[in-house]
Amino acid sequence: MGLVPMKTILSQAEEGNYGVGSFSVANMEMVMGAVQAAEELQSPLILQVAEVRLNHSPLHLLGPLMVAAARKSDVPVAVHLDHGMSTPVIEQALEIGFSSVMYDGSHHELETNIENTARIVQRAEKYGATVEAEIGRVGGSEDGSENIEMQLTSVGDAERMEKETGLDALAVAIGNAHGMYKGEPDIRVDRLREIKACTSVPLVLHGGSGISERVFQQCIGAGVRKINVATSTFNQVTEQVNDTFASKGAYQNYFDLHQDEVKGARANVLKHMNIFGSAGKASEVKMK
Ligand SMILES: [Zn+2]
Repeated sequence: MGLVPMKTILSQAEEGNYGVGSFSVANMEMVMGAVQAAEELQSPLILQVAEVRLNHSPLHLLGPLMVAAARKSDVPVAVHLDHGMSTPVIEQALEIGFSSVMYDGSHHELETNIENTARIVQRAEKYGATVEAEIGRVGGSEDGSENIEMQLTSVGDAERMEKETGLDALAVAIGNAHGMYKGEPDIRVDRLREIKACTSVPLVLHGGSGISERVFQQCIGAGVRKINVATSTFNQVTEQVNDTFASKGAYQNYFDLHQDEVKGARANVLKHMNIFGSAGKASEVKMK
């Protein structure tokens, strides 16, 4: 099936009432692990990298690798720029072949966020790419460097955002936060339902690391179609490597280390695809 626009995957998820994981990757090993999991479960997949992570994983290197992996895959894969902040980086991702970009203007006033999002929607159109934007503010920060206070998405703002920008997917702030949660997060499924009732685009839940299976399912039932998973995959890759080191001692060669990274990423992606209900849905995704 290969590389597809993210909206193609999300509209099928809307029809089938399930969620699709958008998994952050930082290197080739993690890309391989995520794609293996998707192919094994015959699930649609979204591969993503956030702008703040590009210092570690430069876009001109990781981007083409993600796109190549998607093109070669036998399941539908969207390649997504997460939390795009600057127009040049968003443009670069589109040029590389990303089938989706997020413009994150959540730190701006509503008017500016709407204006900038509408501009990105126009630019993405000529690439046939999907645009996600954020309204309200998800807590924490994508790379854990700041402790941003969550601002619950207002229903009226979400309605305006959709109407005035023509965006394809909307990230909401409903008590979710980036990084690992300190306790059980208080996810406002009631607010999610209110937003869903007044909007028609697929909704996106950021901060998927540490939300319980039960709450994930409530969110999907209330209309979330894309769920971002980053921290838990990075943690699982690290744990896999640490476990091998603890049980078998120092690595004797690089390729065992490579294999453990693939394995850690694959395990976390498999787990979330099963929770989100996207397993077995690959063949239902149709190009429109
Ligand atoms: Zn996010």
